[in-house]
Amino acid sequence: MAAYVYLIHMDQKMFRAQHYLGYTSLESVDQRLKRHLQNHGARMLAAANGKGITYRVVRVWKCDNWRDARALERKLKGRKNAAQLCPVCLGIAVERNLEVSLETAMAEGIPF
Ligand SMILES: [Zn+2]
Repeated sequence: MAAYVYLIHMDQKMFRAQHYLGYTSLESVDQRLKRHLQNHGARMLAAANGKGITYRVVRVWKCDNWRDARALERKLKGRKNAAQLCPVCLGIAVERNLEVSLETAMAEGIPF
């Protein structure tokens, strides 16, 4: 079953961070975002909700299964440079279709 890694960009910094990386396998990224907006899941995003800080999903990586998604999430988190992955921070227009497979990202030279 497909799983997704997603990057959220917050419109203001929270705890000196402006991004949240997560993965989801049992629900779509849209469903996951809705639950974040209802304070379920990441404490950072719940805190952002409390402060009225808005945020949005700016990138999605599609993986074959949850193990790959978790591994990619950890790999990307480990780099500690989410801004380098973020189209908003890089000044690139956010594509309408956010979802891209890792193979496509690699083939097209998109930073991942
Ligand atoms: Zn950003």
